[in-house]
Amino acid sequence: MTSALSVPTDWVRVRAPGKVNLSLRAAAPGPDGYHPLVTVFQAVSVYEDVVATAADDITVSMTGTGDQIVPTDSSNLAVRAAQLLASRAGISDGVHLHIDKRVPVAGGMAGGSADAAAALVATDELWGTGASREDLLDLGRQLGADVPFALMGHTAVGTGRGDMLTPAMVVGEFHWALAFAEHGLSTPRVFSALDDLRGDEVPESDPDSDIELMQALRTGDPHALGEALHNDLQPAALHLLPDLGRTVQTARDAGALGVVVCGSGPTVAALGRNRAHAQVVAASLTLAGVARQVVTATGPVPGARLLV
Ligand code: ATP
Repeated sequence: MTSALSVPTDWVRVRAPGKVNLSLRAAAPGPDGYHPLVTVFQAVSVYEDVVATAADDITVSMTGTGDQIVPTDSSNLAVRAAQLLASRAGISDGVHLHIDKRVPVAGGMAGGSADAAAALVATDELWGTGASREDLLDLGRQLGADVPFALMGHTAVGTGRGDMLTPAMVVGEFHWALAFAEHGLSTPRVFSALDDLRGDEVPESDPDSDIELMQALRTGDPHALGEALHNDLQPAALHLLPDLGRTVQTARDAGALGVVVCGSGPTVAALGRNRAHAQVVAASLTLAGVARQVVTATGPVPGARLLV
């Protein structure tokens, strides 16, 4: 019989965070159709928990936010992650992945990428494949542009498709109210709306654009960070979902230091002065009825990690 203190060897639990983009700047799409990005990610305390249990095949189940609308076949990002690691490591073991979802589906917070990152870390541990950090980041990059950041966590600057990462220095923590919308937004649709809105007027990239933001992070100054938040995709998300304008305005009226759409949206992130103030902003958003659900979160937090 297993004693209460013994460590089980046939299952592991891994936690991976959702993210907000403190800044996101998109250039004109290249010949491959992708928009080169410069983005500053921050991992926040809204988590996906994945329990990986030894099994014959690779399967997935889900509970929590949007569990009904996410596929459970081999298009599920967690399944793809496990399949990729198995094929790279040349092993035929299976795994059952159970995901407790808290990050909104298609919410711009990279919940699917968090699941993929968690599945990589969990199966590496369960199967004893001994992948290095670099190996996992490389596998993550093949699964999706946001997967490497879900592995790394904390705060980082992403370039390329957002998958080439440089950690950013941050002092202290920041407190967010996050408004989850009723429905999701498709990322390709938002980029296409961005192209339509811009026409030929694509802004020149300026390497100094985020100097104030990086300084705000280094000094732990939420007021300066609030002023520096920026997302090129925000007008496109608002164009596709005009109701989001009310969410943004409600957070501003509640005194948020800055309000920004997360990634391709529609989640809206509002920065509080401190934890209590983020709760006040969250209460105002809830009372105004402008979101399906409002939560508070802190950032930065670590990337995908084993829970013991
Ligand atoms: P993106 O990473 O494309 O910007 P997002 O952060 O807005 O997306 P996600 O919830 O990560 O939103 O995923 C978007 C799509 O990926 C959904 O339409 C969903 O069907 C598909 N998907 C595949 N696997 C998963 C998963 N494990 N969790 C969530 N979505 C998944």
